[in-house]
Amino acid sequence: MSLSFDPDSLALPVGHFIGDRLVAGEGVIAMHRPSDGKAYAACPIADADLVDRAVQTAKSALKESNWGGIRPRERLKVLHRWADLIEQDAMALARLEAVASTRPVGHLVEGDIAISAEQIRFFAEFADKDSSDLVPTDDGSLGMIMTEPYGVVGAITPWNFPINMAAWKLGPALAAGNAVVLKPSEMTPFSTLRLAELAVRAGLPAGLISVVLGDGMTTGNAITGHPDIAKISFTGSTRAGAAIMENIARTGVKPMTLELGGKSPQLVFADADIDRAAAAVTASITSNAGQACVAGSRLIVEKSVAAPLIDAILKKMKRVVPGPTWDAASQYSPIISERQRQRIDDIVAAAVAAGAECLTGGRSMDVPGYFYAPTLVAGVDQRSPAVIEEIFGPVLTLQTFEDEDEAMNLADHPSYGLAAGLFTSDLSRAIRLTRRLQAGTIWVNRYGRSRDHILPTGGYKQSGIGKDLGREAFQANRKSKSVLISL
Ligand code: NAD
Repeated sequence: MSLSFDPDSLALPVGHFIGDRLVAGEGVIAMHRPSDGKAYAACPIADADLVDRAVQTAKSALKESNWGGIRPRERLKVLHRWADLIEQDAMALARLEAVASTRPVGHLVEGDIAISAEQIRFFAEFADKDSSDLVPTDDGSLGMIMTEPYGVVGAITPWNFPINMAAWKLGPALAAGNAVVLKPSEMTPFSTLRLAELAVRAGLPAGLISVVLGDGMTTGNAITGHPDIAKISFTGSTRAGAAIMENIARTGVKPMTLELGGKSPQLVFADADIDRAAAAVTASITSNAGQACVAGSRLIVEKSVAAPLIDAILKKMKRVVPGPTWDAASQYSPIISERQRQRIDDIVAAAVAAGAECLTGGRSMDVPGYFYAPTLVAGVDQRSPAVIEEIFGPVLTLQTFEDEDEAMNLADHPSYGLAAGLFTSDLSRAIRLTRRLQAGTIWVNRYGRSRDHILPTGGYKQSGIGKDLGREAFQANRKSKSVLISL
């Protein structure tokens, strides 16, 4: 069966998911399809009262189901059933996501959705395996570190990988015994609503997941400032992350995990496998049209191999074919909005006006929708906005170096430290530079996440606080209590 579908014939769930059902909401924020620019829906905005209703529902559900206190294996079983249903429902989920987002339907079914189910199972396994500790004390005492869930966790996700980002938040929080009130991006809310519905169908007590739709100012602030939400887990821009910290500080104190922006360098040394490096570098900036937090957007190459590397990258960039997200054959994604496409174009135009050279791209593509051509910008320096700002589009900047120290200086970003790529056949150099690179994830002779969910992901500097994925993500959803018993 073909995965292609007609976007006009899709029924969209417009509302909020609270308890075990969709609560209708009046559409307020106009939504346009990135693949053809058509206005097709409007996203409701949950106000503080509705967010409070979701939080109170979550608190009652926690109490009635004793989700945090039941045998952990029971939580594991429900989450495994949920993952099974997600796989079985992949087509419906993929359609709801593809229509609104930049994710091609084929990538969703084979990639995002399959991986999300896998990650939910990965987190489920921690439910009955992560144990509290007995600690060494003197003979007359017994010391323990007990852990327990927070209660209601507030989660906020971005538009670039909606299902997957929801799985990163919901999986560990639920496995650890919490309830979650989640706000997806106002640009891509539909697939997250369906994920919640599937969870209830899988046997998750109703109310443990609520999905409230809305923007950052109203719904987001109501979540981060809610006194009964005990912890915040956020993925999005550094700007919004800072605003969330401010709102939390204004309304109280609570722990938060922030997965924020990046401007990740890819360093290619003369001794690297150039074809392999060219493939990885190009894929990292053209995949989802560069709209990924870990997009390798700064190419830093040793001067002596710059020419063949650039040649190979340009060939690959020019071969990219745009296609709507609802076509099963589509590989190259549109930009999420016209505004964002314009912003990308403005940054590239400003770089060119300041003396940079566009080796390819630097323009919108001549097709319906918000497509932007893969772009390689040379002749930029460390102060150029194209090198400093997270563009969140298919724009790769090019800089060259002559020795390791120069490469390290160029790689260092004043505020971001999310990921970095290193291409070299010299093992000593790979280890030496891995130690020096200031980033939360380093990929050597490859670029991009694998299905090794045990590797945590998170940023250095202003790319974030705390980790998603890995054991850390589970542990971040439990608080610890130190206990000392006098015997
Ligand atoms: P964004 O920050 O504009 O929005 C993210 C989410 O936060 C949305 O749901 C939005 O409504 C909400 N929001 C915005 N302002 C808020 C506020 N003041 N209070 C509460 N919520 C608020 O980001 P985006 O454009 O949706 O996504 C792109 C960004 O996400 C990029 O910067 C990208 O690097 C980052 N990202 C990071 C990771 C990671 O793992 N580090 C993963 C994916 C995306």
